[in-house]
Amino acid sequence: MWPEVIEAMDYAIKHKIRVSELHDAVGKRLAKLLGAESAMVSAGATSAIMLGTAACMTMGDKVNMERLPNTDGVPNEVIILKNHRYLYDRSIKAPGARLVEVETEEDIRAAINNKTAMMFYLLNRPQEQKIELGEYIALAQEFNIPSFCDAVTTVPPISNIFNTLNTGFDLVCYSGGKGLRGPYSAGLLLGRADLISFARLHGSPNHRAYGRSMKVAPEEYLGMLVAVETSLRFDEDAEYERQRNAVDTMAHRLKQVPGLIVETKIPAAEAREPYVEVRWDSDLYKITPAEMKKELREGFPSIEVRALFLSDGELHLTAVMLKPGEPEVVTNRVIEILENNASH
Ligand SMILES: *Cc1c(COP(=O)(O)O)cnc(C)c1O
Repeated sequence: MWPEVIEAMDYAIKHKIRVSELHDAVGKRLAKLLGAESAMVSAGATSAIMLGTAACMTMGDKVNMERLPNTDGVPNEVIILKNHRYLYDRSIKAPGARLVEVETEEDIRAAINNKTAMMFYLLNRPQEQKIELGEYIALAQEFNIPSFCDAVTTVPPISNIFNTLNTGFDLVCYSGGKGLRGPYSAGLLLGRADLISFARLHGSPNHRAYGRSMKVAPEEYLGMLVAVETSLRFDEDAEYERQRNAVDTMAHRLKQVPGLIVETKIPAAEAREPYVEVRWDSDLYKITPAEMKKELREGFPSIEVRALFLSDGELHLTAVMLKPGEPEVVTNRVIEILENNASH
């Protein structure tokens, strides 16, 4: 978390507030800062997905709201592209929605009916798809179906939020505890004012709300606002340079080790996260990348490398979390483990 966020949280716990008034005020300021029609803080991105889906299913109808997750008589179908099914889509289903998988424009036209509550989109998905983002949104608009976008992986930089809101999605969610460096348990739901007001009805502080268990504390609410303010001031270019330098330091050291194939991958700044890919001759070092990952995690200090499912099974060293002096700590441990497993 940014130090500014901790200060704001400390301030918040020392003052009395009416929870709903705080939600109104922070929402208004967030919307203004980010260029959204309306905004709320949620208990993480998945909570934003659940509350947003519930909002689109019930559209403020008190009887239907009370019914969830029972969906008798409640529009409960959510359209999703087949290759946008992902780790977190259970949060769409949590309020009782059913996912309807589609691939093409024809599929979407055929799928839409009076039970369709929402069209979901996962932004930043690398795979090819059979429909363009703009066409997807246009279809949602043509049939007057609220569209929801999970844009979590597009920040930082926070400036991407402006572009995403401009694409025309009705609701967009972000995680607060990842790159925005807000409270770990917070998130953002941005978009259409009516839908945000319905989403708020589904959450705390409302006593009977379906999402009452997804409380956001006043200090988290304010902390999330200050995380956005601080992110908007942050020098992203300098941060990118810092990560590049740390990655270069690691690559430079590892290239001195015999039998290692070391590649520095420097994606464009917009794609973030430079990293070092380290491969080795399996005749020289009898250890797999998975075993290396495990040893790094279990050793001292405990070191975490990128998940193998994100790195195609290779060892990837990133620098986002590294402080000065730590690139050397990482490379020393990698080299130590390799030497312990050398075949000579
Ligand atoms: C991490 C992540 C989420 C979940 O965010 P939380 O704030 O932890 O609920 C949702 N979608 C994507 C794409 C993510 O990467």
